[in-house]
Amino acid sequence: MIIIHKASHLLKQLERKKADGKSIGFVPTMGALHQGHLSLLEEARKNTAFVVVSIFVNPTQFNDPADFNKYPVTIETDILQLEEAGCDLLFLPDLATIYPNGTNNLPTFDMGSLETLLEGASRPGHFQGVCQVMNRLLTLVAPEKLFMGQKDFQQCMVVQRMIHLEKLPVELVTCTTRREPDGLAMSSRNMRLNENERRQATAIYRAMQIIRQGLLAKQPSPEILQKAALQELQQNGFEPIDYIAITHPATLEPFNSDDLNAGLSAIILVAAFLGKVRLIDNLKVG
Ligand code: AMP
Repeated sequence: MIIIHKASHLLKQLERKKADGKSIGFVPTMGALHQGHLSLLEEARKNTAFVVVSIFVNPTQFNDPADFNKYPVTIETDILQLEEAGCDLLFLPDLATIYPNGTNNLPTFDMGSLETLLEGASRPGHFQGVCQVMNRLLTLVAPEKLFMGQKDFQQCMVVQRMIHLEKLPVELVTCTTRREPDGLAMSSRNMRLNENERRQATAIYRAMQIIRQGLLAKQPSPEILQKAALQELQQNGFEPIDYIAITHPATLEPFNSDDLNAGLSAIILVAAFLGKVRLIDNLKVG
């Protein structure tokens, strides 16, 4: 595996691969890698000839500086895992490589209602930061295909919109969420949970299942299902709960009884805190 820090070295390497006719796959991450990240790499290896993974903890997407400061960094084990999993090139830029003119006056993107709904509402500025770093990374790597996780469903929608706005010639491939055997979605943040919180964390998956079963049975109403799921989270120590929402997958607008009776598909989205750790997850139904 080639490890590269500088933008100019990256461009030189990729130019060579592209001249050889190799398709480039790209998996952007913030490190503290787990099987979820590696499943994206696996998917990229199946679909493209040369796979680039980046590790960069992007400060502009953290609306809470404490969250940024506590973000886990495990670079040595990350490198070993990537090597073993068959990553071709690891891009490890520093702040100045990603933001050569600093982080003030970065471009902003018109995200429409994605910026005011759910994650957008709970984390002001977060999605602008995501777009800023993704715009820069996609310009540098210029991959044919970009692999991202459905775990961050709204993030995928935002990045798809930015790709469209900027007319970037890249296909976004959204990959399924890897879970622990008890249903908890794998996440770098899970390593910050203590033993008790780790046990309680499984309530997210149960809460989503309560809603899923109800939607499939077409009763009770989405509002009642939402309350039952909320209770499941509260009883297991989640506080505060930013949202537990049943929405339309294309718009993230609320899903109501008429939609349920019409048999439309839905997506359940959850974001809530256990202690100081904020966890998010989602589940598609139908
Ligand atoms: P992060 O390092 O948290 O920014 O995540 C990097 C990429 O990995 C994003 O596209 C995430 O959606 C994806 N990802 C994170 N957790 C999982 C998971 N459990 N399963 C699949 N993909 C994931």
